[in-house]
Amino acid sequence: MQTDMPLLRSLNCFTCIVAMNVAPVRSFARLTYAKFLLLFALIATPALAVERCAICGKELPDKFYVMTDRVTEEKKHVCPTCANLPNECFVCGLPVTGDYVSISDGRFLCARDAKTAVLDRSAAQALAAEVKDSLDRMFSRFLNFPGTNVEITVVDRVDLQELFKTAGDSYSCPNVLGYIGPVTNNGKMHYEMRLLSGLPRAQLKAVVAHEYTHAWVFENVSQRRRRTLGHDAHEGFCELVAYMFITAQEDEEQKKIILHNHYTRGQIDLFIDAERRFGFNEVVDWIQYGTDKLLSKDEPNRIRDVEMPKKLVAKNPKPYRVQGQ
Ligand SMILES: [Zn+2]
Ligand SMILES: [Zn+2]
Ligand SMILES: [Zn+2]
Repeated sequence: MQTDMPLLRSLNCFTCIVAMNVAPVRSFARLTYAKFLLLFALIATPALAVERCAICGKELPDKFYVMTDRVTEEKKHVCPTCANLPNECFVCGLPVTGDYVSISDGRFLCARDAKTAVLDRSAAQALAAEVKDSLDRMFSRFLNFPGTNVEITVVDRVDLQELFKTAGDSYSCPNVLGYIGPVTNNGKMHYEMRLLSGLPRAQLKAVVAHEYTHAWVFENVSQRRRRTLGHDAHEGFCELVAYMFITAQEDEEQKKIILHNHYTRGQIDLFIDAERRFGFNEVVDWIQYGTDKLLSKDEPNRIRDVEMPKKLVAKNPKPYRVQGQ
């Protein structure tokens, strides 16, 4: 505050001089409302302009760092002390201090992102049930997702990576945020869905939609076709369902996350394009009965190269729109 006072005093003087020299007035009563606002702004601006560190809230020194908040994409000004903090939030990428949350695998969540994070099993199960409900409604004409035989838990990153190593089956999903795999016990099959702990609710919804779609593929695409279906196309289809679900939720941020991740090596863009051009039913037909490994960028019409079982030919001749889109 000591440093603020001289600045404010000198600006008050400056304001008076301007008022007298440029537009002589004898009292404040003669000021127009607009001029009063201008005076107020001139007086108040320096006080408001004291810039504070986005992390600790202390006044910023002359030299500071600019860091990008990955959630809001805003540029944040950070003091050198905070910029050198050892830990960062795994969601927004900014340094953490004060009320942050530590996760068992060495990740951290800042206080803001901890508020929307799903950290325990019951919260994840409730969220997954909500997503499943919405998926069932949206895709009722096209896809039947598995019902009660999906066991859902949250795991940390160490456990998740371990699952990928031991899964062995070509069916395991390499999405670093979730995993689903079929398990047979005493002749009864169920799915194990494992979700990375600490994800924001909105992002976890997209992950759950993606993982449920893997289960649909497992139950509805023949082993023969699964062998020819390219891995990136399989993942791209799961991302398409997640993308359509997120679109119905009007969540622009999550849409961007799906579009910006590159792990389907461009297949997600071709799936989105194919759904718009040909309809979701043709995309589903290709996944089940297509002859190509991947969707083609140069020849999008090849999505129509399918070997449909005779009884299904011409069952769905017209493209359908998915409800809620
Ligand atoms: Zn700071
Ligand atoms: Zn954060
Ligand atoms: Zn996947």
